[in-house]
Amino acid sequence: MVLSAVEIYDRAFDGGLRPDPLLTVSEWADVHRRLSGKAASEPGPWRTSRTPYLREIMDCLSPVSSVERVVVMKGAQIGISECGNNWIGYVIHHAPGPMLAVLPTVEMAKRNSKQRIDPLIEESEVLRERVQPARSRDAGNTVLAKEFPGGVLVMTGANSAVGLRSMPVRYLFLDEVDGYPGDLDGEGDPVALAEARTRTFARRKIFIVSTPTIKGASRIEREYLGTDQRRYFLPCPHCGHMQWLEFERLRWEKGQPDTAHYLCEGCEGRIHEHHKTRMLEQGEWRPTAEPEDANGKTAGFHVSSLIHAGQIPQLQKWRARIQ
Ligand SMILES: [Zn+2]
Repeated sequence: MVLSAVEIYDRAFDGGLRPDPLLTVSEWADVHRRLSGKAASEPGPWRTSRTPYLREIMDCLSPVSSVERVVVMKGAQIGISECGNNWIGYVIHHAPGPMLAVLPTVEMAKRNSKQRIDPLIEESEVLRERVQPARSRDAGNTVLAKEFPGGVLVMTGANSAVGLRSMPVRYLFLDEVDGYPGDLDGEGDPVALAEARTRTFARRKIFIVSTPTIKGASRIEREYLGTDQRRYFLPCPHCGHMQWLEFERLRWEKGQPDTAHYLCEGCEGRIHEHHKTRMLEQGEWRPTAEPEDANGKTAGFHVSSLIHAGQIPQLQKWRARIQ
C-alpha cells in the first residue's frame, strides 16, 4: 500500500507526538495563556472561570472530544475569537499539525495576525519557544505563516482562492463567516473550498464562528440550524428554573437604563445584572434540536449578547437608539 505524505503525517501524529492528549484547550489556556495589554481590555492571565460558557466550546476543540465541527453563532462584541486563539496556542504547543485560519479578507487576516496572533505568541513562553521571531530571516515566520515544530499556522482571507487552496489542513478556523463572499471567482463557496482542505485528515477539527448579519441569508445561522442548537441555560436566582435568555423578556423604564432587568419565565421574578455572575457559574449548555448530522460530530452553540456579563444596560442603550 502506498501512503500519501498526508497519510504518513497523520499516522506519525497518531503514533504519539502529543505530550498529553487529555489536557483540554480550556485547561491549557488557564495555565499558559496571557492576555496582552495591547489586545485585551483586561490584560493578565486567562481565566476560563470568568466566562464559563466558553469552556465547553473550547473543550469541543480538544483532541479528547469526538466533535469535528464546532459552530458558534454569537452576539456582537463577544470575544469568541479568543477561544480560537486559545485553540491556536494549544495546537502550537500540544497538538501540532497544519492549521488554516480564515478571515473575510486577506487584509483582515494580516491585521489580525499583527494585533492578535503576535501578542498571543509573545505573551506565552511555551509558544515563544516554538515560533521563531519574524525578524530573523529564514525563520519560517511571516505575517501570514507561522511555522512551529510539527506544523504551521497559515492565515488567509476568504477573498483569496489561492489562499484557500494552499495546503491540506488538520485544523480549520473560519472566523466571521457572514463576511465571506458567497461565491469566489466562480470557484464556489469559500467555506466549502476551505473545508475540502481537511478531507484527508481523519481527526480533523473545524471551528466556524460569526455574528449573524442578515436574518434568513446568514451563513452562520444556516450552519447553526443544522446542529443540535445548544443554548446556555441559567438558573433563576429566585426559583431555580433553568432557562436561556431572550431579548423579549428584558424590561426597563423608558430612558432609564439602570432599571433594566430580566423577567424569569418560571416565576416572573426580576433578575438583575448583579445576579448574573453566579448564574453563569451554574449554567450549562443543553441541546434544543435534533441535529441534521446524527453521528455526534457537530456541536452548535448560540452565545447571546445577554449572557455576556455587563450587557443588559448596554443593550438597553443600543435598543433605545434604534427605536
Ligand atoms: Zn424564577
